Amino acid sequence: MPDPQRKPHIGGNWKMNLHAGEAAALAEALADRLAGTAGDAVDVTIFPAFPYLAAVASVLCNKGSKIVVGAQDGYFEANGAFTGEVSMSMLKDVGVGCVLVGHSERRHVLGENNELINAKLHAALDAGLDVILAVGEKIEQREAGKTDFVNYGQICAGLAGVTAEQMQRVTIAYEPVWAIGTGKTASPQDAQDAHAAIRGCLSGIFHGQGVNDTTRIQYGGSMKPGNAAELLAQPDIDGGLIGGASLKADDFAGIVDAAK
Ligand code: PEP
Repeated sequence: MPDPQRKPHIGGNWKMNLHAGEAAALAEALADRLAGTAGDAVDVTIFPAFPYLAAVASVLCNKGSKIVVGAQDGYFEANGAFTGEVSMSMLKDVGVGCVLVGHSERRHVLGENNELINAKLHAALDAGLDVILAVGEKIEQREAGKTDFVNYGQICAGLAGVTAEQMQRVTIAYEPVWAIGTGKTASPQDAQDAHAAIRGCLSGIFHGQGVNDTTRIQYGGSMKPGNAAELLAQPDIDGGLIGGASLKADDFAGIVDAAK
């Protein structure tokens, strides 16, 4: 069983999916389906595409839902000549409570490096937002026995300059790249081993400050209602970041139920 001092968190990363009507309908369905659970037994965040953040926040607010609206990205500068970018304070303005940084698609498809990810993480914290820092190895790195080495590197660089107090607003998402959107899931034991190693890494960074015990570490990579319970039962797995299965209300709610 996961440590009771770490409340489970389930995030739904909608990626570049769902147009306005679909996004509003899914938010409404989740607000209904997860009333009494979201924000109580399980913290729940959904991550719509940028154009629909305000509309989804408004749907959830009208429903009195405790589901949090998250952004899939945000820029580190506060304002200025950065065409196409969106600042953390702008996200906060439209009702966002949490920002995802370091997702593997941003690292490996859009070319973000650890330095940029760290700058974004600091900007989000400075704007008063919670942060999910995603880390994870590629298949060739796992096969070469470098899973922990890769995760340590991404965590140390991603969290550079972050204080133990700020870590109360940071969740780590362990997302093996080879499991994202592929239908391949890490076995519960492999995921548990990676999470335990990440907890050890946090202990090394924040020596003696208890951050390793209190930080939520959630798993992402083809989590579905059918495999969620076994993954979430591992002692160091405190939740999930869900892509594909977050696009259907019943599937996503099923995973949230498994986290209770
Ligand atoms: C993700 O996008 O973070 C993710 C884990 O996707 P999926 O659940 O589809 O593997």
